[in-house]
Amino acid sequence: MKIICIGRNYIDHAKELNNPVPKEPLIFLKPDSAQLLPGKPFFYPNFSKEIHYEGELVLKISRNGRHIEPQFAHKYYDKITVGIDFTARDLQQKFKEKGWPWELAKGFDGSAAIGRFIPIPPSPIVYSLRKNGEQVQWGNTKDMIFSFDQIISYVSRFFTLKMGDLVFTGTPSGVGPIQIGDSFEGFVGEEQVLDVKIL
Ligand code: MG
Repeated sequence: MKIICIGRNYIDHAKELNNPVPKEPLIFLKPDSAQLLPGKPFFYPNFSKEIHYEGELVLKISRNGRHIEPQFAHKYYDKITVGIDFTARDLQQKFKEKGWPWELAKGFDGSAAIGRFIPIPPSPIVYSLRKNGEQVQWGNTKDMIFSFDQIISYVSRFFTLKMGDLVFTGTPSGVGPIQIGDSFEGFVGEEQVLDVKIL
């Protein structure tokens, strides 16, 4: 199983980190060991002093495929949830400055928290993330730069998609640091799917 992530897929988030709005999807991977299963706590790692949450819609790939045309891409995913792309922002900043890959800042153990998967609701899909009971992020799929189907099609030109792969589809604005003791809840529409405590 692999975890495919897209960066800077909402204009307002690209702007909050002073990044240009991409013309092609910015793709990176997390290893399967990054997956944090529903209900499991996230343990703050000792190699970073600035871990950020990024609340994202996550798709589950339902059939194998490669070179998928956008008009057929919807046949390759059948479930959705909210996940958190935990990011060691201090390491990422250092790696960006050096032109190094991001893997250690993005792919560490537990960095891909996922909620409970549910069937895909009709578009546009709205979702939200609450931190300690207060809404900190809100997203609507109509504000994505690259749609689910465009992401699937693009990625499948490079990587064969396999059943069970996960796709983190990017974060809207409102990312921020986490602290030990925080708790996060994610919602697709009104339905709670994600619950993560920081220990
Ligand atoms: Mg992200």
